Amino acid sequence: MADYVVGVTGGIGSGKTTVTDCFADLGVVIADADEASRKIVEPGQPVLEAIADYFGKEILDETGRLNRKKLREIVFNDVSKRKALEGFTHRPIMDELQRQLRGAEGEYAMLVLSAGLGTSPLIDRMLVVDAEEPIRIQRVMTRDGSSEALIRQIMQSQPSSEQRRAIADDVIENNADIDQVRVDVSRLHARYLAFSRA
Ligand code: ATP
Repeated sequence: MADYVVGVTGGIGSGKTTVTDCFADLGVVIADADEASRKIVEPGQPVLEAIADYFGKEILDETGRLNRKKLREIVFNDVSKRKALEGFTHRPIMDELQRQLRGAEGEYAMLVLSAGLGTSPLIDRMLVVDAEEPIRIQRVMTRDGSSEALIRQIMQSQPSSEQRRAIADDVIENNADIDQVRVDVSRLHARYLAFSRA
């Protein structure tokens, strides 16, 4: 069981997945808040029933799955509905993440917090992954085939690099190649092992 948890955050295309894949290669268990938020609304889960009761059956698609896009659109401009949704989801997401982190083998585990600013009571330390904007744009264009305009729009909807760096304990500057990521990851791995043993 890992009882030391390092949070990981960073904007679109910063390299969170690339970095956490390298930690996973070293045996570190990675939990993901976005994944947990999808898991707790799968068909059959009580949270999905509560959401359907509150928002109406129209929030489900024809197969009974949550129409996340529709839900996002509804809560985007309606604070009270957003708060209601958070009321249904917040605790179950925390419980799911806690369950995954508690069950994790290894001396420490990581929690990827992509959305928002990424602070969480579950974490002991925050790692921010960052890269220069033109590099991030180029990498996402190559990865997803998205237009530069769309990527810039997503970047503007996210917290800025400066806001993320303000809450960082550690930063990986992901401007070079993957070999450099591995070097940075192994340096941090040694540091996190030391912290988790302290
Ligand atoms: P998102 O928030 O969009 O999910 P992310 O922060 O998880 O993105 P990655 O998917 O890890 O970012 O990286 C974005 C793209 O850039 C990927 O295609 C990845 O392979 C590539 N990439 C990341 N880091 C490097 C690097 N140091 N050298 C070359 N390519 C990289």
